[in-house]
Amino acid sequence: MSKPVSGTLICPQCGKEQDITVWQSINVSLQKGAKQQILDGNFFTHTCECGNRIPLVYPCLYHDMEKKNMIWLVPEGTGYALGDINKTTFIPSYIYRVVKNSFELIQKIRIFEYGWDDRVLEILKLMIETDYQKRFPEKKIQEVCFNCTGKNPELLILDENGTVMGSKIQEQSYLNVKTQYLEAIMRKSGRGYLQIDRDWALALLGENQ
Ligand SMILES: [Zn+2]
Repeated sequence: MSKPVSGTLICPQCGKEQDITVWQSINVSLQKGAKQQILDGNFFTHTCECGNRIPLVYPCLYHDMEKKNMIWLVPEGTGYALGDINKTTFIPSYIYRVVKNSFELIQKIRIFEYGWDDRVLEILKLMIETDYQKRFPEKKIQEVCFNCTGKNPELLILDENGTVMGSKIQEQSYLNVKTQYLEAIMRKSGRGYLQIDRDWALALLGENQ
């Protein structure tokens, strides 16, 4: 079920007060078009008449019944604790994740749409980041993100100057990481909403040197 709540906000650019809808939860299998809006970056943004795009930051539970995943978007400082979130009932065949912002949510959706395991990908991302850093020690890496809009999936490495370097992901590299770390991944995947990110991968690799 999707739960919309009405509210108002004042545009910081033109000062006009306007009505907005925020969603406590969004079921993208029932609410057609919502998934695409999230992927396009429009769902958690309000565009004012003056053209100003205002980011909407609030907690929202994303539910995809077809892909069988639930992703809880919990922006920092919004008062949700993982312990409270994890008091709900869980369906064994589902994937549960928690993310800190809508960018991370988009990343998760892209990975699950592609049919890959985000845990394997986080490990692979970290390996590629480490390798890149060794080759270019002067670069300060800001972000490594997953992109699958082209023919091949790739990782985009963003440095502090906003320069982007693309690195194609070979299916075989993904499968190799999956095989090598499957046991460790299973050990490190508890019950409930998991925060699978760079820190998670870093801890896993640290424990499995
Ligand atoms: Zn405005």
